[in-house]
Amino acid sequence: MKETKAYSASSAASPLSTDTIQRRDATERDVEIEILYCGICHSDLHTVRDEWSSFMPTTYPCVPGHEIVGRVVKVGSGVTGFKPGDVVGVGCLVDSDHSCPSCRADVEQFCPAATFTYNSPDKHLGGVTYGGYSESIVVDESFVLRVPSNLDPAGAAPLLCAGITTYSPIRRWGEIKGKKVGVVGLGGLGHMGVKFARAFGAHVVVFTTSPGKTDDAMRVGAHEVIVSTDAEQMQAHAGTFDFILDTVSADHDINAYIHMLGLDGNITLVGAPEKPLPVSAFALLFGRKSVSGSLIGGIAETQEMLDFCGAHGITADVEVIPIQKVNEAYERMLASDVKYRFSIDMASLKAE
Ligand code: NAP
Ligand code: ZN
Repeated sequence: MKETKAYSASSAASPLSTDTIQRRDATERDVEIEILYCGICHSDLHTVRDEWSSFMPTTYPCVPGHEIVGRVVKVGSGVTGFKPGDVVGVGCLVDSDHSCPSCRADVEQFCPAATFTYNSPDKHLGGVTYGGYSESIVVDESFVLRVPSNLDPAGAAPLLCAGITTYSPIRRWGEIKGKKVGVVGLGGLGHMGVKFARAFGAHVVVFTTSPGKTDDAMRVGAHEVIVSTDAEQMQAHAGTFDFILDTVSADHDINAYIHMLGLDGNITLVGAPEKPLPVSAFALLFGRKSVSGSLIGGIAETQEMLDFCGAHGITADVEVIPIQKVNEAYERMLASDVKYRFSIDMASLKAE
């Protein structure tokens, strides 16, 4: 085992602070990775503050972080896909049972034994898994991704969660070229959703509660922006959307967006607010509309997404911060003041 510096929270009410955790020695299937950058996902904040206690209660200390880009420092004797020096990524998953129907269908995120990168039972060391707000991580090679060499590592880190979480439902929707697609919320997930929907040829409209984000929304790829608090702007687009991706992290009126859909339109939730969202049956019945959800993506699809980003030069727009600013970053994220993903420069942890 190896002592590793990390940032952890000791309770739902505590700020994150410096800590030391143990990482296992690499087994024959493992890749040991020095972490270069780790994105800050709103799920990190939900988990640290135990906001999902009814579904996934948090075990403390909690070391969050599942948007990891790093450099391979060591590989086990049985590892074939990676070698020291490779730049690699790790997302929300670090293990699964490799054999259930979900694993066989390349959707390991739905495996009953899926091991998430943090706050999941750790079969190697006991306790729970610890995420990427740390110097290094040891991961089974089947859950390690190749990061295209042309991508900036700080901007590539958020692809490992915000990227795949938006890419997957957009791909699954079908042929999106020429369709009218809405993205609700211009945060970490939302701005990636805009980039992907635009790259696949959709007419992209951002719904935002922050009028100050209009120029940025257009710059990242939107054709139009609707300020969702303006009833007139909303009404002008009612019934016109084919597909809407809802990335909002907090309570909001989903019926207002169902109202935006046309015949057979679908709204897919990727945002994971703490409380249930009431859905009006009538809003769905008229127009045969549907509401669905989507959870990250499988490993093969995550690699496909990274390769797509490499081919199209797509990364997240990041504000790179030292780990010492993580608590401030959480408050800014809660205030919808993230432009558009924080990426932690993990070299800053060496100063602790
Ligand atoms: P984020 O960067 O904080 O973005 C969320 C955006 O939602 C904000 O920037 C804001 O955009 C909008 N928003 C926030 N509060 C709002 C409110 N009260 N009403 C209306 N809009 C509001 O968060 P993120 O990292 O993108 O994550 C978004 C959500 O997705 C979180 O709940 C996270 O846990 C979840 N998530 C799910 C998956 C999955 O697999 N399904 C994966 C990762 C994350 P505007 O300022 O433009 O309005
Ligand atoms: Zn995430």
